[in-house]
Amino acid sequence: MPTIEGPFRTSDVHAWARSADVVIVGLGIAGACAALEARRAGAEVLVLERAAAGGGASAWSQGQFYLGGGTDVQTTCGYEDSPDNMYAFLRAVTTTDEEDKLRVFCDSSVEHFDWLEAQGVPFARIAYKHKAVYTRTGEGLLTTGNEKVWPFREKAAPAPRGHQVSGDGDISGGNVAMTALLGTVEREQVPVIYEANVIGLVQDDSDRIVGVKVRIDGEDSFIEARNGVILASGSFNLNSDVTSVNMPLFAQYGKPLGEPTNDGAGLLLGRTVGVAERGMEGLVATASIYPPEDLIKGIVVNAEGRRFMTEDAYHGRMAHTIARQPEAKAFLILDEEIFGYPKHGSHTFIDAFETVEEMESALGVPAGSIRGTLERYNSDIAAGEDTEFHKHADWLKVLEPPYALFEISIPRSDYHWMSLGGLVTDSDGRALRPDGSVVAGLYAAGACTNHLAQDGNEYASGMSLAGGSLFGRRAGVHAASAAVTT
Ligand SMILES: Cc1cc2nc3c(=O)[nH]c(=O)nc-3n(C[C@H](O)[C@H](O)[C@H](O)COP(=O)(O)OP(=O)(O)OC[C@H]3O[C@@H](n4cnc5c(N)ncnc54)[C@H](O)[C@@H]3O)c2cc1C
Repeated sequence: MPTIEGPFRTSDVHAWARSADVVIVGLGIAGACAALEARRAGAEVLVLERAAAGGGASAWSQGQFYLGGGTDVQTTCGYEDSPDNMYAFLRAVTTTDEEDKLRVFCDSSVEHFDWLEAQGVPFARIAYKHKAVYTRTGEGLLTTGNEKVWPFREKAAPAPRGHQVSGDGDISGGNVAMTALLGTVEREQVPVIYEANVIGLVQDDSDRIVGVKVRIDGEDSFIEARNGVILASGSFNLNSDVTSVNMPLFAQYGKPLGEPTNDGAGLLLGRTVGVAERGMEGLVATASIYPPEDLIKGIVVNAEGRRFMTEDAYHGRMAHTIARQPEAKAFLILDEEIFGYPKHGSHTFIDAFETVEEMESALGVPAGSIRGTLERYNSDIAAGEDTEFHKHADWLKVLEPPYALFEISIPRSDYHWMSLGGLVTDSDGRALRPDGSVVAGLYAAGACTNHLAQDGNEYASGMSLAGGSLFGRRAGVHAASAAVTT
């Protein structure tokens, strides 16, 4: 767990070891984007990175960015989208009350896409038209959320917005993106101190944040931030003290995504000076039933033998809903025609069954429960519509014996997850107190902040990298221009 001290007062500081206008804590995607924009806006910038190299979890990620509104990739691939259409979808699927940030996220998305490309982050003008969690076959665009899922497809015209950075063989898109961004940071000669662990914030007598305490080679010193400090130190996924309390089911059974330094330093630093937190129980988990996409034509039932959601939902939405079923248990029922092994999730193949009764007895579900579920589903599908959960017409098929069964329960499968909650900021990245007032001199961006999507029900893959990079940029611009009185 991170060592966090303070907050310190300027009276605790005997001497500043170094000064900069903007001090950035962490060099993942949020920190790199903040650094570039602050530097280009004329600020003297200093990045402090705890690891021996930059990249953070961003460099391990799949490299999907949730972008839309009519990016060049969308348009070239023949898809129509607009900022209003993107907003209509996100407004419908999320419950965020950060209206301003949501609007900025959608209205800035085309410009942000252009900016990322201008830094050397590559997106191919090729669309993947099927359902996948990610691609590593060269496509630059795919659907990564609930756009085609009812009721959202009726609230906004579905458009794919998962912009996938082209990976190269085993190299992930996140690695490619961060190689480009870190290369730009280096070319533009932004100073970075590696193996520099920020352990405290410094306040002046007006409570403005004016610097940090940092530990380098076992020696502690203070660094002054004349305009502001930007926390960009990543998630708290690897901080079991926080996750075991806030997300006990997944902390117990799931696997957190991230690297060892994703231990919540930013969150804890923010706490020392009273920054508000939001969505601290929110996470997105994944152990997708697709690909192969034919598996979506099966049905998912809980331990009572009942269907409880549409099977064509985004995989994070499915994990979210399974977690809320009795004992967090669920089963995927397939028939012979669509049988296949799910590529992700290490889901357990239970067996094949000639009859529904055998299947019910193997699962120990109430006799007749799966029979009733299948009868209703099959008669709906024969009539051409899933009246219960509105699965898209692309995935409708009558299921016939023999059946095959996979267990996809949270405790049994391999669910990987990441937190979505964190520090509260405004659309310029300024850290806010619970009463909405600004903590002067303090900014935060990326996975140490609260995401626009509050949980897996709301998330679409790519929202973290897109939000972290966009709001990191905005924090950099604002901090560079921040007068000492803001
Ligand atoms: C396997 C995997 C796949 C993913 N795929 C996607 C995807 O395709 N799309 C998507 O949107 N999201 C994805 N995510 C999530 C996404 O990668 C992260 O949420 C995002 O990268 C966070 O960016 P960040 O800049 O906030 O943090 P990070 O990239 O984690 O960077 C934080 C940096 O801060 C440093 N740091 C930490 N504490 C301190 C300290 N006290 N002092 C100084 N430095 C410190 C760390 O060493 C690190 O370098 C994925 C995550 C993983 C792990």
